Amino acid sequence: MKVTVIALLLVIDQAIGATWVYSQGPKGPSNWLNSYAACGTRAQSPISIEHENSVANKNLGTFDRSVFTSLPASMELVNNGHALQVNMDGSYTISDRSVLPNDYKAVQFHLHWAAANKSEGSEHWLNGKQYFAELHVVHYNTKYASIGEAVNKPDGLAVLGVFVDINDETNEHFNLLLNPINRVQIPNQEMTYTSKFSVANFLPTDLSEYYRYRGSLTTPPCFDSVVWTVFKEPIHMSRDQARVLQTSLYDGINSTAKVGGNFRLPQPINGREVSRPYKSGANPIPLPIFLQITAMLAVVKTLYF
Ligand SMILES: [Zn+2]
Repeated sequence: MKVTVIALLLVIDQAIGATWVYSQGPKGPSNWLNSYAACGTRAQSPISIEHENSVANKNLGTFDRSVFTSLPASMELVNNGHALQVNMDGSYTISDRSVLPNDYKAVQFHLHWAAANKSEGSEHWLNGKQYFAELHVVHYNTKYASIGEAVNKPDGLAVLGVFVDINDETNEHFNLLLNPINRVQIPNQEMTYTSKFSVANFLPTDLSEYYRYRGSLTTPPCFDSVVWTVFKEPIHMSRDQARVLQTSLYDGINSTAKVGGNFRLPQPINGREVSRPYKSGANPIPLPIFLQITAMLAVVKTLYF
């Protein structure tokens, strides 16, 4: 019953599209907790992550890329009124206890990004830097029947966060979302993909370095139900691609405002631990040997060429 009510509220929320907003005001972030009590708990997300304050943990392993390469049974692109989202049916499940404490099944991913003419739009910050955008891959614990049932449970969700930086190179993978973006300009418009693609396209190369902490949904209803993974290495998109993302989606049915600046600011850490996989002393011994070989090669080159 409770689940049905929550599901219904989410539907109503989307239908009227105005029960909460990112801009300041009575429905803005500092007042979300008036309508959604969980937005005021002591374990909210996002947070500002400082590598130096994170704790190396030998029990944390590396995510296996091959899990993310599987294709969902069906996929659709959606403008949910607050973000650009890709829903996935019949997607992969992560069941590696070295990376996550339960089995978590992927259901959707979406983006948070900077407002037009701005360059800061990620939700998490890393070492004082706010990136252009942040991609969230949302998974639910398979011990629950659905994401609707899992969403408010302490062990209900696992979200993978990937920073998106800007450079001058087109990232073809993002064109999978940006080429059809005009087909979902209006909130709740959906487009079903005829050719599917995998989440692996949107993950960084290095899946061994990440930050882990317990937090929440970053939008109302803000439930403290998320085990967060924020990868250290960013992915990229070009300036032109960023502009398309910033200028294409309307945030309301009769609105002329564009979706963007759709991030929540870092929330108090309140003593929570941020951990990271332990990396065995990466360089001390190999580096001098490498330098010695380089020096020897240089000598050989001067002698013989
Ligand atoms: Zn998100």
